[in-house]
Amino acid sequence: MPELPEVETTRAGLAPHLIGRRVTHAVLRRADLRWPIASEFEVVLPGCSILDVRRRAKYLLFDTHAGSALMHLGMSGSLRVLPGATPVRAHDHLDLVLDDSRVLRFNDPRRFGCALWQAPGTTHDLLATLGPEPLSEAFDGAQLFARSRGRSAPVKTFLMDQRVVVGVGNIYAAEALFMAGIAPTRAAGRVSRARYERLADAVKAILAHAIARGGTTLRDFISPDGAPGYFEQELSAYGRGGAPCPRCARPLKQAAIGQRTSVWCTHCQR
Ligand SMILES: [Zn+2]
Repeated sequence: MPELPEVETTRAGLAPHLIGRRVTHAVLRRADLRWPIASEFEVVLPGCSILDVRRRAKYLLFDTHAGSALMHLGMSGSLRVLPGATPVRAHDHLDLVLDDSRVLRFNDPRRFGCALWQAPGTTHDLLATLGPEPLSEAFDGAQLFARSRGRSAPVKTFLMDQRVVVGVGNIYAAEALFMAGIAPTRAAGRVSRARYERLADAVKAILAHAIARGGTTLRDFISPDGAPGYFEQELSAYGRGGAPCPRCARPLKQAAIGQRTSVWCTHCQR
């Protein structure tokens, strides 16, 4: 599924094509995705200019003076800017038609994505409880250490909690814990401050690297300019259960933690 780096790649790819453009109208080919498509797409958005394209966690916000279109790619969604005459394919659920005759087209075979609305000056409920952005200064080892005291949940589960920090999915959690040398099974409340500082640095480094590579995780991810956004990533732990540890060459252990597949080195990660 699109992880934070893919969503950031999508944002950066779309923004220059959308900022300053006016939406003439929306074309809904179905009424719902994960939830009903917000009525504002048809009744508020037409005539509005897109002032900015922002990302919060894995949500994209298309800001106008009348509010923001709030979209999520779900498991399989993609957004592309296309010539208006581009034939519609299966699963092309929603178009925003732009004043330069191009369209912003949302395709989502599995329909776990969403198209909602955030009123001006408000924060949508889905965004209200989110933790800090991992690449912001608000996210650091001190914050992880403070929030984790007394927590018995595995540190991997803690790190993937969107109230603690957003956008650290299963792949990036596994990789960051490997880089920081922390066993994913360790109780969050029993990781030292110094180790949380290493973990926060690892999260930032891995996500920044993935963003620089244009997103790395989804085989059929399509970047907004139509180029495939999937690059074979040099993963150390994720997906490598039983393979040799890149550091010590012992076989990596694979087990479920919090119902998510996890891979780690029982020798290098304590
Ligand atoms: Zn090892």
